[in-house]
Amino acid sequence: MKTFVVLMGAPGAGKGTQAKILESSLGLPQVATGDLFRANLKNETELGKLARTYMDKGELVPDEVTVAMVRDRLSQSDCEKGAILDGFPRTIAQAKALDTLLEEFSAKIAVVPFIDVAQDVLVQRLAKRAEIEGRADDNEETIRVRMEVYHSETAPLLNYYDEKGLLVKIVGEQSIDDVTADLTAVVKDVM
Ligand code: AMP
Repeated sequence: MKTFVVLMGAPGAGKGTQAKILESSLGLPQVATGDLFRANLKNETELGKLARTYMDKGELVPDEVTVAMVRDRLSQSDCEKGAILDGFPRTIAQAKALDTLLEEFSAKIAVVPFIDVAQDVLVQRLAKRAEIEGRADDNEETIRVRMEVYHSETAPLLNYYDEKGLLVKIVGEQSIDDVTADLTAVVKDVM
C-alpha cells in the first residue's frame, strides 16, 4: 500500500535535513512543498510568481494552490510506493485535503513524527541558516511571521494527528545523528 510519513515540526526544527536522510534509508522520495515552491520560483512559472508574494512575507500560499501542486507531485511515478511529506500539510484544510487524496490513491499515513524544538532554539537556528544559505525568507521579520503562522495554522495539526493515533514526538534538541536514530526507530516500527 502506498504509504506516507508526515514530518511535522516548526520552521528550523530539522524536517528537511531528516527527510533527506530518511529518503535514502526508506527508499521513499522527500516531497517538500517549500522546495517545490522554490523550484517554481527559480523557473519563473506562474505558480512561482504567485507563491513568491506569500513566501516573501512568510505567509502561507493558499491551500487550493498548494493542494493541487501536492496532488500533482504525488501522482508521479517515483511516489508509487509513497513519500516523506515535509512541510505539508500546514493547515487543517490541507490535512483534510490530504485525507481525501489518501482515499483517491488508496494510501495511508504510517506515522506523523513531530520534531519538537523550543522556540528560542528555532529562532537562533533560522538566523544561522540565513547566514549560511542566504534564503530570502530567513530574515528577522519573516521568521517572526512564519513562527506566528506556525503557531496559529500548523500547530493545531498536532492535535489532529494525535487524535488519529499517528503522532509520535521526537526530541529535536539533540545532535542530527541522534534525531535520525530516534526517527528511524519510530518509522521502522510502523513500516
Ligand atoms: P519551507 O521551506 O517549508 O519553510 O517553506 C517556505 C515557504 O513556502 C513557507 O513560508 C510558505 O510561504 C510556503 N509553503 C511551504 N509549504 C507550504 C504549505 N504546505 N502551505 C502553504 N505554504 C507553504
